[in-house]
Amino acid sequence: MLKDQRTIAAIATPRAAGGIGIVRVSGKDAPAIADKIFKAKSGKLPSQSEGYRAHYGKVFSKERALDEAICLVFRAPHSYTGEDTVEFHCHGGLYITQSVLRAALDAGAFPAAAGEFTKRAYLNGRLSLDRAEAVMSLISAQGEQAAQAALTALEGSLAGEIKTVADELIAAAAKLNAWVDFPDEEIEDTDPERLKAVFKSALDKLQGLLDSYDLGRAVTNGVETAIVGRPNVGKSTLMNLLTGYDKSIVTDYAGTTRDIVEETVNLGPLVLRLADTAGLRPTDDPVEKIGVDRALKRIERSSLILAVFDGSDSLTPEDKALLSKCAGKPTIAVINKTDLDRNLDLDYIRKTIGTLVEISASQGWGVEALTKAVEDLLGTADFDAGAAILANERQRQCVLRAANNLSEALQGLESGMTLDAVAFSNEAAIEALLELSGEKVSDAVVNEIFSNFCVGK
Ligand code: GDP
Repeated sequence: MLKDQRTIAAIATPRAAGGIGIVRVSGKDAPAIADKIFKAKSGKLPSQSEGYRAHYGKVFSKERALDEAICLVFRAPHSYTGEDTVEFHCHGGLYITQSVLRAALDAGAFPAAAGEFTKRAYLNGRLSLDRAEAVMSLISAQGEQAAQAALTALEGSLAGEIKTVADELIAAAAKLNAWVDFPDEEIEDTDPERLKAVFKSALDKLQGLLDSYDLGRAVTNGVETAIVGRPNVGKSTLMNLLTGYDKSIVTDYAGTTRDIVEETVNLGPLVLRLADTAGLRPTDDPVEKIGVDRALKRIERSSLILAVFDGSDSLTPEDKALLSKCAGKPTIAVINKTDLDRNLDLDYIRKTIGTLVEISASQGWGVEALTKAVEDLLGTADFDAGAAILANERQRQCVLRAANNLSEALQGLESGMTLDAVAFSNEAAIEALLELSGEKVSDAVVNEIFSNFCVGK
């Protein structure tokens, strides 16, 4: 991909009032642009500054002082983008940051596109593509485990694992190519048993990555969760307890939540994408019926179901219908209203749902037990945030392709196929892995990845 030589600028901090706002300028003209719009108190010009230096002074727009600021100077290649970079740390008002950005643009910079700073870091060899993707995961992480997993990826855990596998396959490819070119000669390490061992070990590593994908997604993107139950068992009260404020309407009237109310909440180290659904009951009300249908669909597609029952009441036909809906799905039976006398037949529920947690949503009891039950059910307690995981579908597809090609290579060896066919499958596997790390990837894919970033990153 052709590198854009223009110097770019953008506001790197959120578009909101805050203590500090940062305007970032990157490219060969960044120091000269800084000379035009910044006057250091020491009198030193940014273009004459070494890298990793901070200068205190004022930012100007055509002789008019805009703000007091710190000007940070980075020298290529020792910056995030790998280019000369200047950052202005000014006061974090919307007007101020926009004025400083405008001054930089007036002085010759071009507005940065979404993700352009990180794209340049990738194009300048500062980050592999999967590490660039980790930057985005880190920015969007909403929970502790998600942030840790993204940081591990940024530090190169996945990149390292992929490189190890790719290097082994590349070494095998070199031997195989030699065999293809000189089939009559004895080439070291091309006996089928030895090749099988190499492919098998690579395949095991890739399979490990594929196996942990769903769990990794749950941790990084949040677990799609449905709160279900008949009307008045306390679903909305539970939702409000977990979200920490009154998002769902709580009343004594059955059928108050008529559609799905969604919220992202932290439960321990996990992120749940919670949906409070309409109470499940037979109804003639057409609007309520739509809500009930949506709730039933939500049960089908959720990775976690919190089936709520009223512990102070006996089981109703609606409760029993819910139990049969949840059978075989990842469900926790949440027995609510334990502050009242128990009238519910827990043994009956246990016959269908293995995990029961007793809570009182209105009293705020039982959240810890619920957290533990969720972690045990999803297996996230064992999640190793330090291990390499695949962060997105693009990466999964690359690994899947590599694994399929390696399986083909292995089958070829088993069935006594000639080594040139095996070499072909091996090459395809290598190609898929290089696409994951970004060493061999189309411009369209690169552009697509970075277009999902925010401007300023
Ligand atoms: P939903 O229809 O399932 O969403 O139920 P709501 O959350 O609207 O609650 C129905 C009623 O049960 C409200 O009056 C709540 O205050 C009450 N309620 C919810 N949780 C508890 C609880 O733990 N204990 C008691 N005693 N009442 C509760």
